[in-house]
Amino acid sequence: MHITYYYIKKHIIYIMILIKQIEVFNPDFIGKKDILIGLDKILGVFNKIDMSSLSGIDIQIIDGDSKKIIPGLIDAHVHIAGAGGEGGPATRTPEMQISQMFAGGITTVVGCLGTDGMTRSLYSVLMKVKSLREEGVSAWMYTGSYQVPPPTILGDVGKDIAMIDEIIGVGEIALSDHRSSCPSTNELIRLTEHARVGGMLGGKAGIVNIHMGDAQNPFQPIYDAVNKSELKYTQFFPTHCNRNEYIFNDAKEYGKKGYVDLTASSYPYYPDYETKPSKAIVELLNAGVPLEHITMTSDGNGSLPDFDENGNLVKLEMGQPKSIFDELIDAVIDEGLPLEIAVKTVTLNVAEILKLKNKGQIVEGKDADLLILDKNFRIDTLIARGKIVVKDYNLLKKGTYEKEV
Ligand code: ZN
Repeated sequence: MHITYYYIKKHIIYIMILIKQIEVFNPDFIGKKDILIGLDKILGVFNKIDMSSLSGIDIQIIDGDSKKIIPGLIDAHVHIAGAGGEGGPATRTPEMQISQMFAGGITTVVGCLGTDGMTRSLYSVLMKVKSLREEGVSAWMYTGSYQVPPPTILGDVGKDIAMIDEIIGVGEIALSDHRSSCPSTNELIRLTEHARVGGMLGGKAGIVNIHMGDAQNPFQPIYDAVNKSELKYTQFFPTHCNRNEYIFNDAKEYGKKGYVDLTASSYPYYPDYETKPSKAIVELLNAGVPLEHITMTSDGNGSLPDFDENGNLVKLEMGQPKSIFDELIDAVIDEGLPLEIAVKTVTLNVAEILKLKNKGQIVEGKDADLLILDKNFRIDTLIARGKIVVKDYNLLKKGTYEKEV
């Protein structure tokens, strides 16, 4: 308490926020608490703050009665600078806007390039990360694209990760897919080793985000790379693990060793092939996959192409970041998963896997990224880096060029 009050006095010129008597899922449920926010940090989580001790301080109070608070969601796979183009130039998807994040209670995003490592560039993704940070959210990115060897900024995956603050890993590298460069086992090992060493040098995760395609035995390239090297399964972060029945069945086994990331935005368009992410979380847990291995990302702003048996494009849609919030709530309401379990797949687990040390928890000293839900699990209030961006269901903050939201 002493440190906290010292901090308050030191920064007295800034408006502070006190969230009173709210059910806190930090993400574990810790009961009804008061949460004090100053600048962009959580100053403390208290049983009850004596209001007289805060007299004279310019403080905004949020009443937490009959509400719940969880960490702001982390979406670790979004095509923030646009993607797609697989149906020709007119099918390129646009850049993500921050209102798309706020609609889903997302306060942290990790961008990636995707299929088009040929005409799109990492420079655009990097500048988009910088713009999102300037607009008030937290953002990082992966270097590389689907292709191997991957495009980079400094000429080497390891250098990008070690030396560029915004870059925390490489990906999405496509495996088991007709759009994959089909890297050999040695090429995959070498790429992963560069990412790992770059991560060690830069104090980052240095993880390899893998786009898992539709081919049979899709995890085989990762098994081969691990068996033929000193690499660990935890150096890989495979996504789209719910894209069809056989990959999802394989994921139930693979997940006992490595991470399993579920994609949320595509399910509504392909319900015949994909496993609904909210159900997939429960099925993975029932299969014995440790909770801390399970994550969910949106693949937002990615194009969602559908090909016929001859490889011709027959349908194209675009994913939305909000899908991770919808699936989180479905996991709680429809599947009966406790909120404190479901919420870890989009907060703490992601922060730990990607080594985002100030994210994913409601704990003193962490970044003030907070999502308040009403009793019907609707987004009541969203706080990103200490600033209120959604209040009483209304969006308060838009992107620089967003007129209509
Ligand atoms: Zn992908």
